[in-house]
Amino acid sequence: MQAILDDKHIYTFNPTMKPALSINAPATVVFTTIDAFGGQITSEETNLEGFDPTRINAATGPVSVSRAEPGDTLVVHIQRIDLPNQGAIVTGKGLGVLGHRMANTAVKILPIEGDDVCFNDLRLTVAPMIGVIGVSPERETYPTRTAHRHGGNLDTKEIGEGSTVYLPVFQPGAMLAMGDVHAVMGDGEVCVSASEASSRVTAHITVITGQQLTWPVVETEDGLYILVSLPSLDEAILEATTEAVTLLQRVLHLSFEEAYMLASLAVDIRISQLVNPNKTAKAFIPKTLVGEGAFQRARV
Ligand code: CA
Repeated sequence: MQAILDDKHIYTFNPTMKPALSINAPATVVFTTIDAFGGQITSEETNLEGFDPTRINAATGPVSVSRAEPGDTLVVHIQRIDLPNQGAIVTGKGLGVLGHRMANTAVKILPIEGDDVCFNDLRLTVAPMIGVIGVSPERETYPTRTAHRHGGNLDTKEIGEGSTVYLPVFQPGAMLAMGDVHAVMGDGEVCVSASEASSRVTAHITVITGQQLTWPVVETEDGLYILVSLPSLDEAILEATTEAVTLLQRVLHLSFEEAYMLASLAVDIRISQLVNPNKTAKAFIPKTLVGEGAFQRARV
């Protein structure tokens, strides 16, 4: 089954989301997404004073997935991310890590030519990724600009073509939505935005029954990233490290002490983003350590 979804956008992930599309998994869905500015930046002269804040950070969806029930895991394999011929980046007073040094708003248009994002005469290789991807949460309502156990504004550069995102299902149908694609982004997303672009994302969706994650996980060719989003980076790092050690204990049948030491040798604790309301840390566990299908075996 293949379906196309466009023009249906959400601005919060909440427990009572109504589907824009219902699918029978496994299925392939093409999500047409709009950029994080809601398409309001058309040139470097765009006046942000007139910005409609209600159009920021739209996610396309939600998609109700048959058979997905609370306690399951939704599996979203990102097959393809098509980009337009330009993106835009914005920063300003109080925005991002060095916002205290910014006096005014700055807007830059970033042409996309072939495999390059153009920044003045520099060329950065495109590495398209999905900033916002998530499902209906258990109890609370989260604006699409933040992230937590349901996913959301994870701004994790590994959520790109060829990766697989695992999300815990809290509500019947899961209610998957995604948007906020970046043509390229560095870890941290320090100035508050990246190469924000509209896009078309092709995703293959399946369900793992009877196994729920604590936090979203993204799997790449090289390993697993456990994505933890909490109000401070310190809290996110503590939880991401805890989750990684627990996974090593379960998959490799180690004591806590041994798994803790092994994590110190082979697990990388990294930063996804530190500019959203909840900060996202990621614990990278290489497949050279745990092999394929580790998270299914771990039952974390
Ligand atoms: Ca974002």
